[in-house]
Amino acid sequence: MSHVFHRHTRKIPPVAVSGEGPYIVDSSGKRYLDGSGGAAVSCLGHSDREVIAAMTAQAGQIAFAHTGFFTSEPAERLADRLIAHAPEGIEKAYLVSGGSEAVEAALKMARQYFVETGEPGRTRFIARRQSYHGNTLGALATGGNAWRRAPFAPLMAETSHISPCYAYRGQLPGEGLEDYGQRVANELEAELLRLGPETVIGFVAEPVVGATLGAVPAVPGYFKRIREICDRYGCLLILDEVMCGMGRTGSLFACEQDGIVPDIVTIAKGLGAGYQPIGAALCSGKIHAAFENGSGFFQHGHTYIGHPVACAAADVVVQKLTEGGLTARAAELGETLDAALHDAFGDHPHVGDIRGRGMFRGLEIVRDRDSKDPFPPERAVNQAIKRAAFEAGLICYPMGGTIDGRSGDHVLLAPPFILEPAQIGELVDKLSTALSEAL
Ligand code: PMP
Repeated sequence: MSHVFHRHTRKIPPVAVSGEGPYIVDSSGKRYLDGSGGAAVSCLGHSDREVIAAMTAQAGQIAFAHTGFFTSEPAERLADRLIAHAPEGIEKAYLVSGGSEAVEAALKMARQYFVETGEPGRTRFIARRQSYHGNTLGALATGGNAWRRAPFAPLMAETSHISPCYAYRGQLPGEGLEDYGQRVANELEAELLRLGPETVIGFVAEPVVGATLGAVPAVPGYFKRIREICDRYGCLLILDEVMCGMGRTGSLFACEQDGIVPDIVTIAKGLGAGYQPIGAALCSGKIHAAFENGSGFFQHGHTYIGHPVACAAADVVVQKLTEGGLTARAAELGETLDAALHDAFGDHPHVGDIRGRGMFRGLEIVRDRDSKDPFPPERAVNQAIKRAAFEAGLICYPMGGTIDGRSGDHVLLAPPFILEPAQIGELVDKLSTALSEAL
C-alpha cells in the first residue's frame, strides 16, 4: 500500500529508478525514451554530470539561507546570466521555485506595480481561452482551461478570456495569415474597451501554446500588434514562457522570435531541467523602478525562493543553453524532428496538423482531415495514445482539446536537446506504433 497521495488516486504509477541521457528506467528495468522531457522540463536529459556536480558542491558549501536575511552567490550569478541573455529592457529576475509560483509572482508584481504608480483601479487581467498558466488559484484564474477551473471557479478572481492565436482552427477561408493574426489580436483592444482600459492590469499569454493546444506558435505579427495595444492603453504584457522558454523553441526566450519585449516574462521547467525545482519572473527596468521609487518592498515571497542549490543547478543549465550552444542545437535538431514528423505523419489520415518550433512540436489528432472534426471526447483518444506510447517505451504528452469543444486531441513532443539523430528515428517509430494502436 502506498501512503503517497497520488494524483490518479486509484492507480500507482511505475517507479522511476534511474535516468540515462534521454531515457528513464523503471524498477522492472524497462527503458522509456523521454519524448516530452516529462512536460518540457528535461532539456539536458537525465544524467548531466556538470549540473549534478554544481548541485553537490553548493549543497556542501551552504544549502539554504533565507532570502529575508541573505542573498547567495548562485542566485546572483544565475540572475546575472539570465539578464545578460534576456531581451533588451528585461533587467531583474525574481527567483521562485516553479512555474505556477512564477506566474503567481508575475500577477502580483503587475498588480502592485499599479498600486505603486498610483493606478489602484487596475484590478483585472485579460488572458486567452484554452490556455494553462498553472494550478495555484491566481494562475488558475488566468488560465482558460474550462475543466481545470470548474471545481474552483467560486474561489477565483474574475478574468476575461479572448481567442487564442490558433490558425489551424481560427483562420477564415481566404483570410491571409497576417490578417488572421491582426484580427485575433484586435480582440484584446475590443475587450479592453468593453471593460474600460483603466481597470485592466495586463494581458497574459504564452508565445507558443504548450499543454493546452500542443505547440502552437502565434502567427507573424500577432504579438507586435498585442504589444502595440498594451502600450496604447497602458496595460502590461506578461508572457508565460514556463513551458516554451529556455531554448525549447530554438531561442533562449521564445518571444525573441516574435520581435517583442514583454514587461514581465515567466520561466521555469527547462530552467531547472528537472534537477531542481526553480522558476523566475523576469521584469523590465520600468517595473522594478516603480518598486524602488515607491514602497521599496514587493509584498510577496515564499520560504524556498532563490534556493542556493536550485540556483547553482540552473546557472549551469543556462550556461549550457547559451555559451554551451545547446539552444542552437535545439534549433537545428528541431528541424530534423520536424522533417521526421512530416515524413512519418504528413499523410496520416488522423494527423490534421504538425506544428511547433525547435524541440517543441505538436500533432493535432482529428477524426477527419478534411473537415478537421475531432474524435468525440468519449473516445479519450489522447489517453489511449499516452497509454500505447508508454507501453511502447515512449513518454509523450497528449492532451484532449475537445474539452472546450474547439479542437482535436493533440500530442506534444518536447524531447531533450541532447538527443542523437538516431533517437529521433526511435521516437517517431514508437509514436507511429502508438498511433496505430490507439486510433
Ligand atoms: N505556465 C505554463 C505555460 C505551463 O505549461 C505550466 C506547467 N505545465 C505552468 C505555468 C505551471 O508550472 P508548474 O507546473 O511548474 O507549476
